[in-house]
Amino acid sequence: MTSERIDDLAPATLVVAAGRPDRAQGAPVNPPLVLSSTFVSRGVPGPGEPLYGRIDAETWHPFEQALGTLEGSAHPALVFGSGMAAIAAALSLVPPGGRLVLPRHSYQVTLGYAQDLHERLGVDVALVDIDDTDAVLAALREPTSMLWVETPTNPMLEVADLPVLVEAAHAAGALVGVDNTFATPLVQRPFAHGADVVVHSVTKYLAGHTDVVLGAALADDDDLHARLHAYRTLHGSIAGPFEVWLALRGLRTLALRVERSQASAAELARRLSAHPAVAEVRHPSLPTDPGHERAARLMDGFGSIIGLRPVGGPDAADAVVAALRLWVPATSLGGVESTLERRRRFATESVTVPEDLLRMSVGIEDVEDLWADLDRALRAL
Ligand code: PLP
Repeated sequence: MTSERIDDLAPATLVVAAGRPDRAQGAPVNPPLVLSSTFVSRGVPGPGEPLYGRIDAETWHPFEQALGTLEGSAHPALVFGSGMAAIAAALSLVPPGGRLVLPRHSYQVTLGYAQDLHERLGVDVALVDIDDTDAVLAALREPTSMLWVETPTNPMLEVADLPVLVEAAHAAGALVGVDNTFATPLVQRPFAHGADVVVHSVTKYLAGHTDVVLGAALADDDDLHARLHAYRTLHGSIAGPFEVWLALRGLRTLALRVERSQASAAELARRLSAHPAVAEVRHPSLPTDPGHERAARLMDGFGSIIGLRPVGGPDAADAVVAALRLWVPATSLGGVESTLERRRRFATESVTVPEDLLRMSVGIEDVEDLWADLDRALRAL
């Protein structure tokens, strides 16, 4: 891989330039996909020499290096088999009997995992409204092992005052883990605010084409990085080389995709807030949105997820989903295609998420086509 220093480049350049092979005459421009579970090893391999595919795989490195640079970490990212595998690794830093403070509206499977830690390992789990800074500070008055942050939250789009929370968590002796899936490192870099661990569901924006399930975890600190690395090897929660190769291919266009989908999301949110069939719209770009001021201060954009509550409750929300022709009714988010779903159709979704909330992931299609489809479905109510 290239040894040239490239981290003084803009993020939009880094996603294209990072993780390329050395520029030797005749070298491939893209890193090769190496499919081999084991590697020739006479005697004990030296540092950096490949041994076995659960411990290391050279196809992981270009993506890991690129994501580490984008997040501003001293270490490369560590890829995992899924976002949840990366989250499980990060939450393994909470000791048995420890205390975990996390958002009430975290991704529902993260909440399920926290509940599992409570039942199996006696971890004390405190749920907070992450945008209510006073409530989080109050929760951090008790000795705490880790503050977990999603910002914006899934699916409520609450925005946390990250620097204030990080300072309070560190004062309480807690580590801070941030799920940066919704924002991506182009929009928010949690290490710059003092976070200790950052995770991604690479499945979403980073890979971006709805064809890969993959995760990543990063730590700036040497010891935390080593612990996450050891967790991955011990649990075997690794990624297949092909998935990582595809994710790097997706990452190359991240800046273009994020720019386009964020602009479209802001425009759709603005139009939706004036629509007669809409009861409420959440998007941090809206000046009236509760997260607007913080997002404008702490993020380089407002993301491309919209929360929409049509007039008429859950039945109306289901009718909108059924009437759409272009928007795809599907779970997940962050792909090139626009998708949406009513989150409370899952019994496991937090009961404080409104029954009629549609989580909309805005893709890169022409914004007028997206609007025409939405407007038609809403007017049919
Ligand atoms: N974090 C967030 C914010 C998510 O939305 C998701 C999945 O929807 C995950 C983590 C889990 O990622 P994965 O599905 O790749 O395991």
